Amino acid sequence: MTAPHDGAVTPGATRAEPRYCDRCGEPAATGTHDGCARARALEPPRYCPACRRRLVVQVVPTGWTAHCAEHGASIG
Ligand SMILES: [Zn+2]
Ligand SMILES: [Zn+2]
Repeated sequence: MTAPHDGAVTPGATRAEPRYCDRCGEPAATGTHDGCARARALEPPRYCPACRRRLVVQVVPTGWTAHCAEHGASIG
């Protein structure tokens, strides 16, 4: 992997590249996650894409919320 900018990492960036598949928890760059992506259109995530912790998922009337103990909540 070559980065277009060297050392230009923004601290506290809220939109990090997902490192793990949020459905199966495997590294996002490993294998194919087409099935996961299809399932994720219907289901909430199970793993944090940043740290691979199991998410605490709550189903709410409007959909769901998923909460990572490390990274906080993501909605929708
Ligand atoms: Zn996957
Ligand atoms: Zn996390």
